[in-house]
Amino acid sequence: MDKRRTKVFRDKLLGRREGLVGQVQAAELYSRERDAEATQDPADMAANAYTKELLVSMSDNDRQLLNLIDEALERIETTGYGKCVHCGEALPEKRLDAVPWARHCVRCQDLQERGLLGEDDD
Ligand SMILES: [Zn+2]
Repeated sequence: MDKRRTKVFRDKLLGRREGLVGQVQAAELYSRERDAEATQDPADMAANAYTKELLVSMSDNDRQLLNLIDEALERIETTGYGKCVHCGEALPEKRLDAVPWARHCVRCQDLQERGLLGEDDD
Protein backbone atom coordinates (compact mmCIF):
# COMPACT_ATOMS: atom_id res chain seq x y z
CA MET A 1 0.00 0.00 0.00
CA ASP A 2 1.47 3.39 -0.89
CA LYS A 3 2.21 6.03 1.72
CA ARG A 4 -0.68 8.27 0.79
CA ARG A 5 -3.26 5.50 1.18
CA THR A 6 -1.65 4.41 4.44
CA LYS A 7 -1.93 7.95 5.74
CA VAL A 8 -5.66 8.00 4.95
CA PHE A 9 -6.15 4.88 7.03
CA ARG A 10 -3.83 6.18 9.75
CA ASP A 11 -5.99 9.32 10.02
CA LYS A 12 -9.10 7.17 10.17
CA LEU A 13 -7.63 5.07 12.98
CA LEU A 14 -6.47 8.12 14.90
CA GLY A 15 -9.87 9.78 14.51
CA ARG A 16 -11.65 6.69 15.76
CA ARG A 17 -9.14 6.38 18.60
CA GLU A 18 -9.77 9.95 19.66
CA GLY A 19 -13.52 9.35 19.66
CA LEU A 20 -13.13 6.19 21.72
CA VAL A 21 -10.78 7.64 24.29
CA GLY A 22 -13.11 10.61 24.76
CA GLN A 23 -16.06 8.25 25.11
CA VAL A 24 -14.34 6.03 27.67
CA GLN A 25 -13.16 9.00 29.68
CA ALA A 26 -16.64 10.56 29.60
CA ALA A 27 -18.19 7.25 30.73
CA GLU A 28 -15.77 6.97 33.63
CA LEU A 29 -16.31 10.55 34.64
CA TYR A 30 -20.08 10.12 34.49
CA SER A 31 -19.87 6.95 36.55
CA ARG A 32 -17.80 8.71 39.22
CA GLU A 33 -20.18 11.67 39.31
CA ARG A 34 -23.15 9.35 39.82
CA ASP A 35 -21.31 7.67 42.70
CA ALA A 36 -20.64 11.02 44.29
CA GLU A 37 -24.33 11.96 44.18
CA ALA A 38 -25.17 9.07 46.56
CA THR A 39 -28.92 9.04 46.16
CA GLN A 40 -31.11 7.32 48.78
CA ASP A 41 -34.09 6.39 46.62
CA PRO A 42 -33.97 2.57 46.04
CA ALA A 43 -35.48 2.76 42.53
CA ASP A 44 -33.00 5.43 41.61
CA MET A 45 -30.18 3.37 43.09
CA ALA A 46 -31.18 0.35 40.99
CA ALA A 47 -31.26 2.52 37.89
CA ASN A 48 -27.83 3.83 38.77
CA ALA A 49 -26.47 0.32 39.21
CA TYR A 50 -27.86 -0.66 35.82
CA THR A 51 -26.42 2.40 34.13
CA LYS A 52 -23.07 1.74 35.75
CA GLU A 53 -23.06 -1.86 34.56
CA LEU A 54 -23.84 -0.72 31.06
CA LEU A 55 -21.03 1.80 31.14
CA VAL A 56 -18.58 -0.76 32.47
CA SER A 57 -19.40 -3.29 29.75
CA MET A 58 -19.27 -0.61 27.08
CA SER A 59 -15.88 0.44 28.33
CA ASP A 60 -14.62 -3.13 28.03
CA ASN A 61 -15.64 -3.34 24.39
CA ASP A 62 -14.23 0.10 23.76
CA ARG A 63 -10.97 -0.82 25.38
CA GLN A 64 -10.74 -3.97 23.26
CA LEU A 65 -11.31 -1.89 20.15
CA LEU A 66 -8.76 0.59 21.39
CA ASN A 67 -6.19 -2.22 21.59
CA LEU A 68 -6.93 -3.28 18.03
CA ILE A 69 -6.58 0.30 16.84
CA ASP A 70 -3.29 0.72 18.70
CA GLU A 71 -1.99 -2.51 17.18
CA ALA A 72 -2.95 -1.33 13.70
CA LEU A 73 -1.19 2.00 14.29
CA GLU A 74 1.87 0.10 15.46
CA ARG A 75 1.83 -2.05 12.32
CA ILE A 76 1.85 1.13 10.23
CA GLU A 77 5.13 2.07 11.92
CA THR A 78 6.69 -1.40 11.91
CA THR A 79 5.65 -4.34 9.73
CA GLY A 80 3.42 -2.40 7.37
CA TYR A 81 -0.28 -1.70 7.30
CA GLY A 82 -2.97 -3.59 5.47
CA LYS A 83 -1.47 -7.06 5.59
CA CYS A 84 -2.85 -10.13 7.30
CA VAL A 85 -0.83 -10.65 10.49
CA HIS A 86 -1.03 -14.39 9.97
CA CYS A 87 -0.31 -15.09 6.30
CA GLY A 88 0.93 -11.67 5.19
CA GLU A 89 -1.57 -11.39 2.38
CA ALA A 90 -2.63 -7.86 1.48
CA LEU A 91 -6.07 -7.04 2.83
CA PRO A 92 -8.58 -5.69 0.31
CA GLU A 93 -9.03 -1.95 0.77
CA LYS A 94 -12.78 -2.49 0.91
CA ARG A 95 -12.24 -4.53 4.07
CA LEU A 96 -9.94 -1.87 5.52
CA ASP A 97 -12.49 0.81 4.69
CA ALA A 98 -15.06 -1.05 6.77
CA VAL A 99 -12.66 -2.26 9.48
CA PRO A 100 -9.45 -0.17 9.45
CA TRP A 101 -8.10 -2.15 12.41
CA ALA A 102 -8.57 -5.56 10.72
CA ARG A 103 -5.76 -7.99 11.59
CA HIS A 104 -6.61 -10.91 9.34
CA CYS A 105 -7.59 -11.53 5.75
CA VAL A 106 -11.06 -13.00 5.29
CA ARG A 107 -9.70 -16.53 5.04
CA CYS A 108 -7.63 -16.34 8.24
CA GLN A 109 -10.43 -14.50 10.03
CA ASP A 110 -12.74 -17.37 9.19
CA LEU A 111 -10.20 -19.91 10.47
CA GLN A 112 -9.66 -17.88 13.62
CA GLU A 113 -13.38 -17.67 14.34
CA ARG A 114 -13.56 -21.45 14.07
CA GLY A 115 -10.50 -21.80 16.32
CA LEU A 116 -8.44 -23.32 13.49
CA LEU A 117 -5.85 -20.63 12.96
CA GLY A 118 -3.21 -22.38 15.08
CA GLU A 119 -1.93 -19.07 16.34
CA ASP A 120 -1.56 -18.11 19.97
CA ASP A 121 -4.19 -15.47 19.73
CA ASP A 122 -7.04 -14.04 21.75
ZN1 LIG B 1 -4.38 -14.34 6.21
